[in-house]
Amino acid sequence: MAMNRARSAQLYEEALQHIVGGVNSPSRSFKAVGGGAPVFMERANGAYFWDVDGNRYIDYLAAYGPIITGHAHPHITEAIIRAATNGTLYGTPTELEIKLARMLKEAIPSMDKVRFVNSGTEAVMSTIRVARAYTKRSKIIKFAGCYHGHSDLVLVAAGSGPSTLGIPDSAGIPTSIAHEVITVPFNDIDALRAALERWGDDTAAVMVEPIVGNFGMVMPKPGFLEALCKVTREFGALVIYDEVISAFRFHYGSTQTYHAFPDQAAVEPDLTALGKIIGGGLPIGAYGGRKIIMEQVAPLGPAYQAGTMAGNPASISAGIACLEVLSAPGVYEEMERLAIRLADGFNEAAARHGVPMTINRIRGAFSTHFCDHPITNYEEAQQTDSEQFARFFRGLLEEGICIAPSKYEAWFLTTAHTDADVDATIAAADRALKG
Ligand code: PLP
Repeated sequence: MAMNRARSAQLYEEALQHIVGGVNSPSRSFKAVGGGAPVFMERANGAYFWDVDGNRYIDYLAAYGPIITGHAHPHITEAIIRAATNGTLYGTPTELEIKLARMLKEAIPSMDKVRFVNSGTEAVMSTIRVARAYTKRSKIIKFAGCYHGHSDLVLVAAGSGPSTLGIPDSAGIPTSIAHEVITVPFNDIDALRAALERWGDDTAAVMVEPIVGNFGMVMPKPGFLEALCKVTREFGALVIYDEVISAFRFHYGSTQTYHAFPDQAAVEPDLTALGKIIGGGLPIGAYGGRKIIMEQVAPLGPAYQAGTMAGNPASISAGIACLEVLSAPGVYEEMERLAIRLADGFNEAAARHGVPMTINRIRGAFSTHFCDHPITNYEEAQQTDSEQFARFFRGLLEEGICIAPSKYEAWFLTTAHTDADVDATIAAADRALKG
């Protein structure tokens, strides 16, 4: 019998009257998976959601990344209550901000100086401003399919390869801005070099998700990040890592300190953008980098960046508490153990039902792609079976398994998931793949 979601359907109709598209972020809409009402959730605890019709779901969405300790983790909840009791917003500096800045710097040593903002979008936007101020150049090179938030420059994903200047992927972005962005394929160092040879003198920075989370989970090929850093600097441009998803996702640190890259000096960026996990489920972003570059930022330097809500005690307290939970021994190993079990179970089920499937797993996060080829760049991720993904998504939802309604998004394990959740999910995936 189909799950009853009558109240969700009703609320969606109501939401459509008042909220554009019924959702406050387009990624929450079910447009890419056949349309209809998204599920309206009422509460969440640990690894579970309960919707407004009383159905329970195992959550692998993790709010698109931040909820790595599960929902309403007691340590984080306590920190938020303490912050709320003491007043949520001061407009003055606090000691808490220093504590979280210290924790970030210890985990990500390339960040000599940090500034807190309110979202990943703001963090990325600010790194671009600083890079432009420091280099006195204007162009940015980015990689197709990497998502860096919704600010003008980084929504541009140029059509065909390195020799094409940007065309905006959103209405409302002037062509003059689009012309400041060059897009090249991820994992293609020759394309990056070609772009730098043509536009290097005008390029302020190369922006990259060093481990990609936005066209599935995709590792850089061996040597790619090292070569990216080297060639970018040969042209006097800065390297910006967007670690909004990747920081504290795979280990207590970020890509630049991850064991897959033993020569850390070779993969160190000039600037880093952070968000998601470092706010423990409350709104946050942060950016930072080498002292001499960060000193471009006001009040020390000429690059202006500010925020009424920036560094608010509630977000900062939740972030500190979240990192405290993540610093316990064995946390990442356990998420990885469960993710391996899931990936193995899905692979077996897919083989049993003759469904071609590629799983890209990096520790406790993975993406499922319906294809029989590897996924190393955006183009390959596009060439997968969207219909099959939509069927899989809907099959899982009927079984009480919640994932993102997009073939490009990842599954995230949290510290709250258990072996029993994994067993139930594998059984559900088996039925969903059977069709
Ligand atoms: N950068 C990356 C890699 C992201 O995945 C996202 C959001 O998904 C952002 C930036 C934007 O962050 P926010 O949604 O907090 O503005």
